[in-house]
Amino acid sequence: MLYLYNSLSREREEFRPRVEGKVGMYTCGPTVYHFAHIGNLRTYIMEDILDRYLRYSGYDVKRVMNITDVGHLTGDSDDGEDKMVEGAKREHKTVLEIAKFYTDAFFEDCKKLNIRRPDVVEPATHCIGEYIKIIKKLLEKGYAYVSGGNVYFDTSKLENYYVFNRQNEEDLAVGVREGVEADSAKRSNCDFALWFTKSKFEDQELKWNSPWGLGYPGWHIECSAISMKHLGEYLDIHCGGIDNAFPHHTNEIAQSEAYLGHEWCRYWFHVLHLNTQSGKMSKSKGEFLTVSLLEEKGFAPIVYRFFCLGSHYRKALVFSWDALENARGTYDKLISRVAQLTPSDSAPDEGIYTEYKRRFTDALDSDLNTSLAITALYDVLKADTDDATKLALLGDFDRVLCLDILKNAAARRRADELADQAASGDPEILSAIARRAEAKKNRDFAEADRIRAELAARGVTLIDTPNGTTYKLS
Ligand code: AMP
Ligand code: ZN
Repeated sequence: MLYLYNSLSREREEFRPRVEGKVGMYTCGPTVYHFAHIGNLRTYIMEDILDRYLRYSGYDVKRVMNITDVGHLTGDSDDGEDKMVEGAKREHKTVLEIAKFYTDAFFEDCKKLNIRRPDVVEPATHCIGEYIKIIKKLLEKGYAYVSGGNVYFDTSKLENYYVFNRQNEEDLAVGVREGVEADSAKRSNCDFALWFTKSKFEDQELKWNSPWGLGYPGWHIECSAISMKHLGEYLDIHCGGIDNAFPHHTNEIAQSEAYLGHEWCRYWFHVLHLNTQSGKMSKSKGEFLTVSLLEEKGFAPIVYRFFCLGSHYRKALVFSWDALENARGTYDKLISRVAQLTPSDSAPDEGIYTEYKRRFTDALDSDLNTSLAITALYDVLKADTDDATKLALLGDFDRVLCLDILKNAAARRRADELADQAASGDPEILSAIARRAEAKKNRDFAEADRIRAELAARGVTLIDTPNGTTYKLS
């Protein structure tokens, strides 16, 4: 039985989807105005583990992810500029060009990190009709109002708004934060924009007709609408980084439940942040940590996945190059140890297989404890059983961990074999050298020359020394 911490109840709960055996899973996707940093990717790696573990446990999972290509402003309180417009200006391109480029870059990074592509990936700009439909109904039901040309959600109409927070209203009213100007069109600082027309308009490149005039959607409405479009009125689990809990997810719940008239999503899964040693990870300040930068510095992306799995998703994680170097050393040792196991066709020992698999599932059933799952993997290596059983277990665990353990161990085994062969000599070349020596002894120089030429054609140069013939490969 899988137990997950549910941010909504603030408790660890048994995970029970609404329909037995089926899971509707929604993930807040990237804002595609720049490359993802490895902090963003920590969230996607841990969500990938959840996705894969649900499938491994037998659930029929449908996972949906949006691509934020409009409406996500630089400020959380509907202030600032659309991040997409900011990105387009930075690169002197159109918003759609920027969106295409960074969406592709995001999925390239995911591929390198073995993050499975969700079943449905939907750009926010494709669903304008859906947003309008929801906003219209919210207005009809009295949950929204038009002010200053924009449409806002009226948070005063809800009994329970701050579901993810224990802070009081004052602290959370985004308008009162230092350096942030209150939007004068809002009735309350907690209200949030569903549709913009008048404000933040001049620079906005993409605009659509709506009953409230030419404009564009707010950020929060896209996730509610895209989730409902593909997963229906009930969502089992919603994922995202912890910074999205408020206001983004709080607002998603407010508008979805006001629209639907019933509870929308049962479980909320939040991944804590990856920070640098100096604090928050940033795309603009300090080192912009991307997958490409890891590669430039000589780290295989899979080492970063391994690094992330070493910590629990609900603990903040500090990134440093030293910590990544340590993870690389540990990963390399792991692969070397697996490479020493001998593959065979024999069937695994059933008793041992079941016992060790249980250790692995116990770890993940316990709020997705990936570091304990990796300990279970080392337990297999130490187990008193045959190599076939160990390899079968490691292959099984890697369906979830996706650390390329068997693939990289096979490559390591092959490389070791080649190195051994090179050290002791390739048996085929050595036998050709012996035949040539025999031919020379029999004064059959034509045959000796023929063998030399044949080896040369294969890139083998013979070197005759007083102690016999050796060779080098070109
Ligand atoms: P964004 O592209 O800004 O919309 O963010 C994409 C995802 O990354 C969201 O789920 C964020 O909550 C998450 N995220 C942002 N910063 C971090 C970080 N430093 N560590 C982990 N996840 C993050
Ligand atoms: Zn979202």
